[in-house]
Amino acid sequence: MPQNLLALNWKMNKTPSEAMKWAETLASQLPQTQAELAILAPAIDLPALAQKLNGSSVGWGAQDISQHESGAYTGEISAAMLGDVGAKYAIVGHSERRLYQSESSQIVASKAAAAINGGIVPIICVGEGLDVREKGEQVPFTLDQLRDSLSQVPVLRADQMVVAYEPVWAIGTGKTATAQDAGEMADAIRDALRGLYREYAGDVRILYGGSVKPGNIAEICAQPNVNGALVGGASLDVESVVGLAQALA
Ligand code: PEP
Repeated sequence: MPQNLLALNWKMNKTPSEAMKWAETLASQLPQTQAELAILAPAIDLPALAQKLNGSSVGWGAQDISQHESGAYTGEISAAMLGDVGAKYAIVGHSERRLYQSESSQIVASKAAAAINGGIVPIICVGEGLDVREKGEQVPFTLDQLRDSLSQVPVLRADQMVVAYEPVWAIGTGKTATAQDAGEMADAIRDALRGLYREYAGDVRILYGGSVKPGNIAEICAQPNVNGALVGGASLDVESVVGLAQALA
């Protein structure tokens, strides 16, 4: 079974100086945990994290990545650039980017492929909105989005990616899917991955994200096909991250 991943999405929070201070504080308080920790920070914070965290057990990465290798794409950051500063991960297809930057699953698929080809592990986000959930169509919706978002990820690369199920109605709202809901969706995602990647499907870590906190993470991650969490709001304070890591220990 893969090691649990506790992925911390800072979103557009923390300047480089704040990131540096945060990483120093975390390093001094980090509890023993079975989980792998990774901070997904604004790109401008990454050199500060590299300075403080390289050589430690805490990984880090970006919140987005370009679908292109290099060239005339103003404002974009490539996999090679991220790799050069030591980033391991990049979130792709977060619902906030799908919404505010109109990222389609086809773009997400290109970004996931660009990440893998450049040696960065994509954390590929999928999940339904409230309208879909209210119609009871969350499983077919999420699996369609998943298959489209993986359409450029080749079979032999399945252990080099992470899938995050994040129901949009649970992100930043304080509403969490029940552990059972998260577990059922993770089971459905694992089945879909088996269809796509056969024996490699077991290597893919499936995270749950949506208002995860120290008080609910253990129950959610106890579901057989949930291999960790993607955490937004509760990732900003070191104390809360220590609580999340302890709850997973
Ligand atoms: C997220 O942004 O991926 C997220 C899950 O946020 P929150 O934990 O705040 O719901």
